[in-house]
Amino acid sequence: MAEMRRRKTVTASIGGVRVGSDAPIMVQSMTNTDTADIPGTVKQVADLARAGSEVVRVTVNNDDAAKAIPYIVEGLEKMGVPVPIVGDFHYNGHLLLTKYPGCAEGLAKYRINPGNVSVGRKNDDNFRTMIEVAVKYQRPVRIGVNWGSLDQALLTRMMDENSRLAEPKDARAVTMEALVVSALNSAKLAEQYGLRGDQIILSAKVSGVQDLIDVYRTLAARCEYPLHLGLTEAGMGAKGVVASSAAMAVLLQEGIGDTIRVSLTPAPGGDRTEEVRVAQQILQSMGIRSFTPQVTACPGCGRTTSTFFQEMAQQIQSYLRDQMPVWKGRYIGVEEMKVAVMGCVVNGPGESKHASLGISLPGTFEEPKAPVYVDGRLFTTLKGDKIVEEFTRILDDYVESHYAAKEEVGARN
Ligand code: SF4
Repeated sequence: MAEMRRRKTVTASIGGVRVGSDAPIMVQSMTNTDTADIPGTVKQVADLARAGSEVVRVTVNNDDAAKAIPYIVEGLEKMGVPVPIVGDFHYNGHLLLTKYPGCAEGLAKYRINPGNVSVGRKNDDNFRTMIEVAVKYQRPVRIGVNWGSLDQALLTRMMDENSRLAEPKDARAVTMEALVVSALNSAKLAEQYGLRGDQIILSAKVSGVQDLIDVYRTLAARCEYPLHLGLTEAGMGAKGVVASSAAMAVLLQEGIGDTIRVSLTPAPGGDRTEEVRVAQQILQSMGIRSFTPQVTACPGCGRTTSTFFQEMAQQIQSYLRDQMPVWKGRYIGVEEMKVAVMGCVVNGPGESKHASLGISLPGTFEEPKAPVYVDGRLFTTLKGDKIVEEFTRILDDYVESHYAAKEEVGARN
């Protein structure tokens, strides 16, 4: 793994999972089911958790959603998926958390948006009520500012103050500053109301890449709370993936960010777990964490004119993806394995030598044979129409012989 210098923070805990300081950068996700639909939500939370989400957030927007929380938690426990559940509250969180103690207790963390709970306003104790519930149940809170619901009273005040300056800043700069101020002021109030500093996580989400980088750099410089990173409303498909990756990579490289979420809009009927895989891939591509064996596949070119190469590369990737949950349960460190799947002999053998295992598939007009490298050495050369099957057998043998079985280590200890 790459040596990353992380920003200094306090360490928080979400349902027993550490976050901040030297804890691994946590991958989070959020459901898009109606929370009151208990079976549907349990299923989606379990899918997200099995895909690798270490914490899953659900919206708690009404009485039925709040009532459902204890049953969702119970359902997940029965399935053997005890992932911490975070409740996302807006407007009425103070009512729901006090009216439904089972909800308050079942959740591992509350997300509060200071922009819609009237933080610090006279005769409005909504924020205070929510913090007092968090203190009562000893739950951490994420104070999650979002520029789409930024505290308008605070923004207006800051805009007014700015306009009176001899050299006023532009509106964007004031808005970015207001996001930071809203998060920090709310955190300060939460501490005044009894929450400990290590029970607070902050986020300040915006939808522009440069804005996100600016706002988090400022936030990181002014506090030691763990920070939850995410580009809000990142969008669909490649745009969402690229924008999230671009923004988060810059911040993560600077040691900023203790938990991440990639807010992708799934295509209708699409797979919600994609956001988890993208978040993991960002961390793994940067050498920060390992989740799954990495496949280095060449892009193909005029030397791979048929679909032969793409199909084989695809089959090997799918095999790795399907096997990983099994291997991960059985073998220690298997997620660090690197597999190269190359289209021809130009870069194939060279790239294969740098991987744990590598195969150079035959390019167009090349002899139909595929040299396989193991730990940098030519291991065998596969021929014929069973190249993929034979390579996956070599993969299986490699995993079995190179990574210690979990039971064996447990027995030795
Ligand atoms: S390894 Fe071969 S097939 Fe792949 S991009 Fe390079 S030259 Fe093309």
